[in-house]
Order: sequence, then C-alpha cells, then structure tokens
Amino acid sequence: MKERQLIEKIRRLAAASQNRAVLRGIGDDCAILRPRAGHDLLVTTDFSIEDVHFRRKWHPAESVGHRCLARGLSDIAAMGGTPLACFLSLGLPDNLPRNWTENFFRGFQALARRFRVQLAGGDLSSAPAIVADIIVLGQVPSGRALLRSGARVGDRIYVTGALGHSAAVLKQLRNAKKIRAIPSNAHFFPQPRVDAGLWLQQRGLATAMIDLSDGLSVDLAHICQESGVSARIAAANLPVTKGADLLLALHGGEDYELLFTAPARSRLPRRIAGVPVTEIGVIQKRTNYSPAIEILGENGRVTALAQRGWEHFKQ
Ligand SMILES: [Mg+2]
Repeated sequence: MKERQLIEKIRRLAAASQNRAVLRGIGDDCAILRPRAGHDLLVTTDFSIEDVHFRRKWHPAESVGHRCLARGLSDIAAMGGTPLACFLSLGLPDNLPRNWTENFFRGFQALARRFRVQLAGGDLSSAPAIVADIIVLGQVPSGRALLRSGARVGDRIYVTGALGHSAAVLKQLRNAKKIRAIPSNAHFFPQPRVDAGLWLQQRGLATAMIDLSDGLSVDLAHICQESGVSARIAAANLPVTKGADLLLALHGGEDYELLFTAPARSRLPRRIAGVPVTEIGVIQKRTNYSPAIEILGENGRVTALAQRGWEHFKQ
C-alpha cells in the first residue's frame, strides 16, 4: 500500500472516534487542541518496539495496536485524567504484509473508540523493524492530577484488579506454549483503568497513584522515592491472578492496573468502576536504614523487597 493511501485509510478510521477537544486533527500541519477551561493538559509518550515490547510470532497485529495505545491510556488513568487525543508515529519494514498494518489499526481504533480518544496526527516511515511511538494527551481539572509524590506515613496501599497475569502469559509464550490471543486475555488486550482513575480523582480519595507497567516492586518504589517514604506490603494480601505466582505478581510488568495510596480513615468500596480493589500494605516512615519496600512473607518474616522489574524479552 502506498503511503498516501495508507494515510487516507488511517484518516477515515480516525474519524470514527472524535473528541471535541480536537478542533483540527489529521490533515493540517499541526493538530489544534482545546482542553476544557480550568483544566491542565496531560501528555505521555511510549515506545512499542518489535522484539523489545512484542514479538510478531507471539503477538497478532491487533494486539500490538491495542497494547500500543493501552500503554498511553494507562498513564493518563494513573494521573486521574480523561484521555482526549493521541499521536502515532510508525516505522514499518518494507516487506511487512499489508494486512499487518490494517490489523494493527483495527486493534488500535477499537480501543480508541471505547475511550473516545481521537487519533489527531502522526508520522509514517520505513524502518528495519516495527516501531510504534504513541503520544496520548488527556485533561484533568487544574491542580487535581494524582501524583506519585503524595503518599503520607500511615496511608494504606491499594491495587486494582489482579497481578501477574501478563508475565505469566509471557512466560508460557517463552516456553513455546501456544496461547490464543483472545480479547479477554489481558496480556494481549490489557484494559487501561481510566474509569477507576477518574473515579479516584473526582472524589479526592487517593493521595498518590501510578500505573503498574514495570511491576509492583518497581512501581511502588517510584511512589516511595517521589514521596520520601517507605512501604510495607503483605504477601498474603496480594491479588495474584490464577495461573501466576507471588514472584510474577511482585515483579512481572504490564498488568496496567492502578497502584494508589489513601489515608487509613478513607472508606474505599470493594470495587471501583467495576474493578476489584485490594488493600496490600501501608506507607511507613523512611529512615537511612530502611529499604524502600518491606514484605511480610507468608512465613511471618519481614524482608526487604528487591526491585526486579520486568525486563521485557531479555532472558
Ligand atoms: Mg506509567
């Protein structure tokens, strides 16, 4: 497919998910965006690179397109924002089968429609391997974005959903197991927790928030670092997905759940926007001697939790 034809096709697809903050989308030198009055603009950017973030033989093109946008939407969710628009720059090998790109956009646009995020621009180039660079923009009422730096001593720590699923699937794929990429499989089609993030932001319940992209041990350490605190979590309380284990739940990445803190007195419902919420630990004072995170094991012993995030496809 010629580049111009492809751009026309993308433009038609993009028209199916319009957002009123986009005054001008694809078709001019720049997109023009106007967030609602009294709102701050959120911007996030993420790479999806072949053989780093996905493998063509494991991940169908629809899943690659979905995951590409889901990564950005999950960051908007983690700030308590509403997604508005996205920009996608694609590098594609010349010998790529034509339907790969079409299927990529099918997966991408299905998710874009669900969250009314408009594809408002981007770039196309040939490249030695598939590279997708996504920028997602969102808005949040001024000064109300949920930051990593707001956790206070005594706050309780919560996660949405269940942990370890994505890493468990990756482990199986690595062991040459065939796994069908059905829409309900959250490794192939993770659901960004935009509604849960928005719910927390609107009620002012959370003090700090982050999305779980690198793994609980790494992402919780980011909150501790930015907030100047430490944390203690209890292994027995972690919502480990069926088929995963504690290590995958602690260190496996790409679950795209939300991790947040809230004052101990806050009453949180068991589910937020249809997603279960689990209390997993407490924020503590940080001293020179304390590790960022301690874990109370099921044997009753407290140990330091090492930060071992998911390193994508490195063995
Ligand atoms: Mg993030």
